[in-house]
Amino acid sequence: MKNVIIILVGPSGAGKSSFLDRALEDYPQLRDVITCTTRQMRPGEKDGDPYFFINKKRFLELTQQDYFVEWAEVHGHLYGVPENQIHEAWRQNKAVIMDIDVQGARTLKSKFPQSLSIFILPPSIEELRQRVIRRSGGQSPTDLDLRMQNAEREMTSAYRFNHQLVNKDFERCYKEIKKIIEESLGLV
Ligand code: 5GP
Repeated sequence: MKNVIIILVGPSGAGKSSFLDRALEDYPQLRDVITCTTRQMRPGEKDGDPYFFINKKRFLELTQQDYFVEWAEVHGHLYGVPENQIHEAWRQNKAVIMDIDVQGARTLKSKFPQSLSIFILPPSIEELRQRVIRRSGGQSPTDLDLRMQNAEREMTSAYRFNHQLVNKDFERCYKEIKKIIEESLGLV
């Protein structure tokens, strides 16, 4: 396998991380990258799952050390992709799969031109809003409006990515994702 990198991109709440978890269960050839963030942990999260949670000072030190192959401010917090995890996965002959925002996906594409990107769209902005509220335990997160504004903006650039899929029905959409994964793993 030649340095495969599959990027699930799209607004937060579109379902990227659920697809990613499912793909990791189904394909042992895949390896996830655990990115770093300065945002607060949500209930049910812990360090290393789904992020390494670090403070801003530490994050900025790591950027100085070129620890991140890509980093960006997303919804007012910093997020970054540790480059060593990508190379470690490839060294173990695994394909990398990750979930990232639009800016990050574009940066990774410029650094790793072989990356394959799948843009996941929600069926509508209203449905996305409801999903984000459900994910926050039924309460509107304080940054809900910001997330929705960012989502609308991100969706206008969906056409820039290799594939665009609407997550209206999870299983149906996952079937499409599986086809793309299997092609890039050389399984079909
Ligand atoms: P959340 O805070 O809801 O978990 O994630 C917010 C957004 O940040 C999601 O769209 C997620 O895909 C994206 N994200 C996670 N890690 C990174 C990263 O390292 N870089 C970039 N650019 N975006 C990231």
